[in-house]
Amino acid sequence: MHNLSLSQIIDFTEAELLQGNKDQMIEEVVIDSRDVKDNYLFIAIIGENQDGHLYLSDAVKNGASAVIVDRKIESELGQSSKTAVLKVADTTKALQDLAHNYRKSFSDLKVIAVTGSAGKTTTKDLIYSVLKQKFSCLKTEGNYNNHIGLPLTLLKLTADNDVAVLEMGMSAAGEIKLLAEIAEPDIGIITNVAAAHLKQLGSLENIAQAKKELIDQLKPSSTAILNYDNSYTKKMGETTAAKVIYFGFGSGADLQTIKYNFDSKNEILTFNIKYKDDNYSFNFNKAGKHNIYNAMPAIITGLLYGLSFEEIQQGLMKTKFSSNRMDFVELNCGARIINDSYNANPLAVKAALDVLMEHQSERTIAVLASMLELGDQSSSKHREIGAYAAGKGIDLLVTVGPEGREIAAGASLEMNSERIVILKDNKECIKFLISEIKAKDLVLIKGSRANHLEEIVAALKTEE
Ligand code: ATP
Ligand code: MG
Repeated sequence: MHNLSLSQIIDFTEAELLQGNKDQMIEEVVIDSRDVKDNYLFIAIIGENQDGHLYLSDAVKNGASAVIVDRKIESELGQSSKTAVLKVADTTKALQDLAHNYRKSFSDLKVIAVTGSAGKTTTKDLIYSVLKQKFSCLKTEGNYNNHIGLPLTLLKLTADNDVAVLEMGMSAAGEIKLLAEIAEPDIGIITNVAAAHLKQLGSLENIAQAKKELIDQLKPSSTAILNYDNSYTKKMGETTAAKVIYFGFGSGADLQTIKYNFDSKNEILTFNIKYKDDNYSFNFNKAGKHNIYNAMPAIITGLLYGLSFEEIQQGLMKTKFSSNRMDFVELNCGARIINDSYNANPLAVKAALDVLMEHQSERTIAVLASMLELGDQSSSKHREIGAYAAGKGIDLLVTVGPEGREIAAGASLEMNSERIVILKDNKECIKFLISEIKAKDLVLIKGSRANHLEEIVAALKTEE
């Protein structure tokens, strides 16, 4: 953040100054008392499990110059405290208002927002790397993609920044609308709509509606970048006042991928695109057709902001991808692992199984665990994944955890039971894989984040 005076912060949040000096300058805004340093503002957020108001004295001890609270708090601060105190009705809203008004104070800043059921982080990483070739960019770090993380990300903006690339996550209707209101994006991107968070939203139509909130918030001068091959995102382009640019493999897409090739030895993905009258061949170091879908919005964004194809290519190639997504790991025994353990939903698991089968290897093994938050469609979706794996011709299917039985049941219709192994948990799976895996095997590891399948990858890596 660049320095803000307390008086600006009061304006931005409509806070009441209970104590302190309005001219005080603030260098940084934090919500964790352990991160507080001199000249920092601490906002006491009330979360699901924690109330920041309980940590006010720690924040003061660590040097907070100011705090934002929702109540009178003299006793926590001590009689002689020099810490300024701002009172608001709702501290989370104050954080969001502060971030929104701070963002608006950068009149030349371009904000790019990415949402979708899968591929948000990867797309954001690719866009950041492309635009960094020419601009000073800020991006969402880690999973700071919700009603707290997004405002904290915006508060990291400095006067040097030309562009902010933001990930927007959601698990309920109304969340994306709020994030878009805070960020006021110039470009809104929806990677796809698929069965993620079905439990909370109930149907694919509801998920689409919730994602569409981003497009509904765009001003006519903004641009919507939408997946042409996904029926839900394709439809969103028909009703928005914003300019629409479609990407996809389908022949009606504005930026269309004509063909692609994966060099599995060197792990280079090459794809040829057509955009207006231009054709160009791009490549980067990540497997999977789904990653071409993540790269296409990055190419469009680069072109909109005046980068040449060559600059965009350099950016794609230099991308630092977030970990546990399509990471190829070579084990001491010579086998290779595709560590895609970060997260899973049906679309993502199918994409990962496609990658597993695109590689030439003597034996393909898919280690699949539960996909969470699928609500009453959980059983059918797990069976569907089992059937998909079997249909792809996976040599060995290993399922982990309670829903694994459903995956196995789906697979067993097309797959010999000797090629299906059902295991209870990660521990059993590690034991099994250590004795089973041989040189030249290719092993996909995939499941929802709560399964912590990265433990399996770590255990196999340390095995001699
Ligand atoms: P989260 O909702 O957890 O933040 P995300 O939308 O940010 O996820 P990524 O972190 O980019 O998504 O990718 C997570 C997983 O989703 C990857 O490991 C991959 O299996 C799958 N995936 C990524 N991009 C796509 C895509 N375009 N289509 C289908 N699956 C994808
Ligand atoms: Mg993400």
